[in-house]
Amino acid sequence: KGEIFVSPDIAICDECKEEMFDPKNRRYLHPFINCTCCGPRLTILDALPYDRERTSMKEFPMCPDCAKEYYDPATRRYDAQPVCCNECGPEVYLIGREERGRDAIIYTRRTIAEGGIVAIKGIGGFHLCCDATNEEAVKRLRELKKRPAKPFAVMAKDLESVKRECLISEEQEKILTGHQKPILLLDKKEDGEETLCESIAPGNPKVGVMLPYAPVQLLLFTYDDGIRMPSFLVMTSGNTSGAPICREDKEAIQELSRLCDCMLSHNRKIRIRADDSVMDFYKNEPYMIRRSRGYAPLPTMVQMLWKGQVLATGGELKNTFCIGVDGRFYPSPYVGDLEDLRTVEALKETIGRMETLLEVEPKVVACDLHPKYNATVVAEELGLPVLKIQHHFAHILSCMAENDCEDPVIGVSFDGTGYGTDGTIWGGEILRCDYNGFERLGSIKPFWQVGGDLSAKEGWRIAGSLLYEELQDKEKTVEWMKKLELCTEPEAKVLVTMTGRHLNAVRSTSAGRLFDGVSAILGIRKKSTFEGEASTALEFAAEAYEKTMQHPYEPLMLKPFTETAEDRLILNTGELVKNLAKKRLAGEDTGQLAYEFHQELARQIISATLTASHQTGIRKVALSGGVFQNRLLLRLVEEGLVKQGLITLHHHLIPPNDGGLSLGQAAYAMAYLQKHEIK
Ligand code: ZN
Ligand code: ZN
Ligand code: FE
Repeated sequence: KGEIFVSPDIAICDECKEEMFDPKNRRYLHPFINCTCCGPRLTILDALPYDRERTSMKEFPMCPDCAKEYYDPATRRYDAQPVCCNECGPEVYLIGREERGRDAIIYTRRTIAEGGIVAIKGIGGFHLCCDATNEEAVKRLRELKKRPAKPFAVMAKDLESVKRECLISEEQEKILTGHQKPILLLDKKEDGEETLCESIAPGNPKVGVMLPYAPVQLLLFTYDDGIRMPSFLVMTSGNTSGAPICREDKEAIQELSRLCDCMLSHNRKIRIRADDSVMDFYKNEPYMIRRSRGYAPLPTMVQMLWKGQVLATGGELKNTFCIGVDGRFYPSPYVGDLEDLRTVEALKETIGRMETLLEVEPKVVACDLHPKYNATVVAEELGLPVLKIQHHFAHILSCMAENDCEDPVIGVSFDGTGYGTDGTIWGGEILRCDYNGFERLGSIKPFWQVGGDLSAKEGWRIAGSLLYEELQDKEKTVEWMKKLELCTEPEAKVLVTMTGRHLNAVRSTSAGRLFDGVSAILGIRKKSTFEGEASTALEFAAEAYEKTMQHPYEPLMLKPFTETAEDRLILNTGELVKNLAKKRLAGEDTGQLAYEFHQELARQIISATLTASHQTGIRKVALSGGVFQNRLLLRLVEEGLVKQGLITLHHHLIPPNDGGLSLGQAAYAMAYLQKHEIK
């Protein structure tokens, strides 16, 4: 007890793959083939110990042949709980149609080959799928899903297909073909064969690619029906925006039937949903963006001699929760955005399931400081003592815990938005942190974030507020906004008036919004149709410029920060923004200015962090928060700090974004338990 280890799901192994395509094998083309080394785990589990009786395979009694293998230590399927075959295993079928088994697979393949859209139930939920080399099909899926530009993940037939379209390092190849099979963000080849539609990831130098991990997915590419299939399929989560991924036929019928032409399901139940994990690479090492299938719930372990059991409910967007047992922390699979009440239900249910699996009874629950977050409400409903932890502090704690760091750090928490201890919005923070608390040592320059939710989607609004903050002159700001083509004149006037009078406005140091604003000022993106669109486009423009850069970068002579009355360091981000706007108006190159923004912001962060280090005597710096998905900024900041003799920590397998929050919250709760008596 307490040492319990729940296995994540494991992608089909090479031997099973071979058997599945061997016409002489009794599991020929069996969509559920697995062995001791591969197959579903977490997603079919009811309770421990891991035994067929306590999984959703209990509805499928083994046939004599399978039982023989199961009980024989000499076979590859000895004690393999989900073992089954064409005789005794689960079956695929089309929802609302007659076809089952073989006929269902052929029908699905034909639908895809003819340009249709299908929903397919895999290991952790449904995917929506279509031919990724067929512009018309992809366009139709975008229209139906109301998703104009957000990149779609694709599944490639095999490694060779990936290599035709993408650049891939040896390390990336290991991950792509490994047993965890995340979606990897790979650079598109400039001289690729371009069979992949541009509309898969429009204007994006990268594409998210994975290889088949469920046997049924392999059958979509290869079968004995003579249908010619493409080498790439779109494989996007089967859900309506914001809702959890569908796992039951009932959900699929409700949410997906209007988005597709047929639905290939199966009768093995999914107990815990698991979305695909998404991984980027930084300095040729994995850098996780979404940690879910294949990774959750593997624990993060720390050396601290902590004792006790805690729960943390995570953040509002990209929610995960985390269960802590002594020095082990089990982050959950990706739950989703809690703005949708279906996702809140999924969070509650999955917390219950994981507590059962790990046999824990938390003594205390940690959550975000934001009073209106649904994750906070869920925490408060549990009837346990509740600890509320500031968002950007939790980001840094998560980076400390992932790196098993016991010492205090200077945390550079650069992020979208989170609730600050003073009731304003925080997001570009420099904090002194240890497991017991934090102190705010610095931030970017505050500005008025006007227009509530709209300001998160429409960077031109932030741009206007940022400019007004610097120019302090209504006419001049409207003039600049017009010349920068940020919006119409009436729109500019309304925004400036609202900013000036602080109408529907909140003071903000959000670094994510700063990126959106700069993206708009430079004419890269004025609005975002999905989270991060404007800021990632800014990063891509800067990276593209860096590749062509002739001379080493010469820093601007701006002061990196000022100290205010509150004794907090204020980065000179305002003057930087004004400077960029001026240069843009003078006709300077967008890519160059995008790069300059990254360089100068990094220089300001480094300079302020050094000062914070001198003030506190702390030499370790942890880098976290969603903005550090920006690998250019991460590299510039990290290399600069290292050059100054500081020690840096960054994330690896825990996301820097809000998906990692729950780990930080859980670490805080565990440290709290060591010092406080809880009845
Ligand atoms: Zn296997
Ligand atoms: Zn069987
Ligand atoms: Fe965050």
